[in-house]
Amino acid sequence: VTTAPTTVEDLRARLERASATTRACEIDALLISPGADLRYLTGYDAVPLERLTCLVVPADGDPVLVAPTLEVPAALASPVGALDLHVHSWDETHDPYQLVASLTSGSASVAVADGMAARQVLRLRAAMPDVEQVLAGRVLRELRMRKSAAEVDALAAAAAAIDRVHANVPQWLRAGRTEREVGGDIADAILAEGHAQVDFVIVGSGPHGASPHHELSDRVIAAGDPVVVDIGGTMPDGYCSDSTRTYCVGPPPADFADAYRVLQSAQAQAVAHVAPGVAAESVDAMARQVLAAGGLAERFIHRIGHGIGLETHEEPYLVEGNAEPLDVGMTFSVEPGVYFAGRYGARIEDIVVVTADGVRSLNERPRELVVV
Ligand code: ZN
Ligand code: ZN
Ligand code: ZN
Repeated sequence: VTTAPTTVEDLRARLERASATTRACEIDALLISPGADLRYLTGYDAVPLERLTCLVVPADGDPVLVAPTLEVPAALASPVGALDLHVHSWDETHDPYQLVASLTSGSASVAVADGMAARQVLRLRAAMPDVEQVLAGRVLRELRMRKSAAEVDALAAAAAAIDRVHANVPQWLRAGRTEREVGGDIADAILAEGHAQVDFVIVGSGPHGASPHHELSDRVIAAGDPVVVDIGGTMPDGYCSDSTRTYCVGPPPADFADAYRVLQSAQAQAVAHVAPGVAAESVDAMARQVLAAGGLAERFIHRIGHGIGLETHEEPYLVEGNAEPLDVGMTFSVEPGVYFAGRYGARIEDIVVVTADGVRSLNERPRELVVV
């Protein structure tokens, strides 16, 4: 049985840090609607609805959860109950936006959750027309980017689960089957291996592998096809997996095998480059340098990685222009790829964590091209 990686004490500490960081950013309150930020701060995995649920975290003072009366039992059944968080309910005929305005009266600026629906952001603006709205991401990123040991354990468990799925991909990948058939087997396995939810299944066979975010189609996989398999899901505790391996149905075309060797070296050297204090963008640059030396510079058409935690894509982003130094506890993907339009593609993706003495890969499947 997996337990929540966070205790009530952890949540309390997060709420206090959120409040302190809000103060340090000279913002008067955070307004957090359902989503990963709310789950991070309170453990409440609320469903986003048209009715306003909003955690108000003042820079000074106690947080309050504003929730529709009919959602209060669900909120109290979540860690919100044990947290002793004040819940301010609103009935169907009341205006929750005025309620939030009254709870934050005297504010000059509020930070709204990055993912808050526009219809709610604009109604908050109408309820407090003189209050500046900024994004809460600049506050929450400071907390969420650096994972606790328990969060790293949760991500390692997610990585192990998706590794077990990849270990079984060779038995499903066969010439004559469609991408959709293979993808169906993979989706079943993602759940069977312990995820609560399938987030994405990419089976990019032959020319489809040249499109990094191709998902599934009815294309029939043929002998000699390289196949990019990029899969991920969300575990019951909310933490996500995301891993790519590249397979080939039968012996690979010679030029593909050559490109793959360069890619594997680029991925390995980019991972080895990860350490505390290293600029995020330099991990991307390391892979690009290796690919350029192998004549593949223009084949790598996306950033090398993204943070991962309660969301599959979150800060930090490892991309040219992001000079932010990597720090202990940051978790992100290292996923260079090479893409040949009309022919094939290849990608290798591991989730790694920055450790005091360098880096640890949470995914552990072999990175060689898998010939099935
Ligand atoms: Zn109240
Ligand atoms: Zn991926
Ligand atoms: Zn990824």
